[in-house]
Amino acid sequence: MLFKNNAYQMQGIPLLDIAKQFGTPLYVYDTSVMQVQYKKLIEAFPKTRIKLKYAAKALSNIEVLKYMRSLGAGLDAVSIQEVELGLLAGFTPDEIMYTPNGVSFDEIKEGVDIGVTLNIDNISVLEQFGNTYQGSVPVCIRINPHLMAGGNPKISTGHIDSKFGISILQTRHLLRVIETYKLKVVGLHMHTGSDILDAEVFLNGAKLLFDLAKELPQLEFIDFGSGFKVPYHASDVQVDITDLGKKISKAFNEFCQTYGRPLELWFEPGKYLVSEAGVLLVKTNVVKTTPATVFAGVDSGLNHLIRPMMYDAYHDIVNISNTQGTKRVYSIVGYICETDTFGWDRQLHEITEGDILAIKNAGAYGYSMASNYNSRFRPAEVLVLEGKPYLIRKRETLDDLTRNQVPITKN
Ligand SMILES: *Cc1c(COP(=O)(O)O)cnc(C)c1O
Repeated sequence: MLFKNNAYQMQGIPLLDIAKQFGTPLYVYDTSVMQVQYKKLIEAFPKTRIKLKYAAKALSNIEVLKYMRSLGAGLDAVSIQEVELGLLAGFTPDEIMYTPNGVSFDEIKEGVDIGVTLNIDNISVLEQFGNTYQGSVPVCIRINPHLMAGGNPKISTGHIDSKFGISILQTRHLLRVIETYKLKVVGLHMHTGSDILDAEVFLNGAKLLFDLAKELPQLEFIDFGSGFKVPYHASDVQVDITDLGKKISKAFNEFCQTYGRPLELWFEPGKYLVSEAGVLLVKTNVVKTTPATVFAGVDSGLNHLIRPMMYDAYHDIVNISNTQGTKRVYSIVGYICETDTFGWDRQLHEITEGDILAIKNAGAYGYSMASNYNSRFRPAEVLVLEGKPYLIRKRETLDDLTRNQVPITKN
């Protein structure tokens, strides 16, 4: 979303026009931002065989998956349903990495049958894998290096209490199981959680993976997961992707020298590729003055964008209907019967009932975490592609709420 000629727009189209055409609440995604982010990441790792596997869970609309594929990305799926969505988007099984946690072995077998790369994160599952396939199916191993990513324990997955990955402390046991079943380990993986601020966390984890990699002669890639931070607040420090890329590329290429042949360097960004590409457009239903604040109550809530309430995430909010007026202090809240505050004490150009607000940085973990709580419909989704807005998901109707309900009594 750009502010140009006194209007917020995407690829030259005023967002107010998009809101008028498709209604609110509405998620709108800008493909040009996805493309810029994709290129930035690729170009930060020159002279490496870099591959990006887009993390589908950030934003899983099939049209977005297709767009990611058109950029050259593979797919990282965390459920068999995301694998299926990937196939519907045209990804071939060999382009999909399936990283499940805590799923039944049946779902892992489904993945193997489809032909995706399985990323196993538990020794007992690896033993079942060995019992079933011996060394006939290549496999990737997810390691937990026990690094604390960023400062937020809610989104960090690498710490000692985390349920993810096979602990680096279990290396001896892991190698025994691999050796016993003659497993074909083609990849090593770590994903320490979101919001990694500097290269040091990555490099510390990388060193641990490199040590283990030396024991595994059949590797084809090492996957460093994600955690690329995007700025949410104006004062947020953004990860220096060029610096990160330089340092990791250097360490990786040195390792490949030692290893004896070049490997692929994989990342699985979600947020980095789509967060800034998306806004949630909402309409102000009410302006309500209380002894404490002035609330702007909008036609959305924690059912559509739960990050502010679940993670205390900061999302910038602007009034796109009034871009010139006096700024006043508002607290932006939803219409759900629950405390669902999008932001306290925000300075916005004066809000009149009916004004459209844009909640920024809503591309990642927005729609994909949305629900029907309070029996509300989820928003529609629009993709702006080559200068045109396309509806890529219809607004729900009452049928969507009742579809799977089974009446057993007459009313
Ligand atoms: C969620 C997830 C990602 C993406 O994380 P972002 O912070 O959105 O980039 C990547 N890999 C795995 C295994 C994940 O679970």
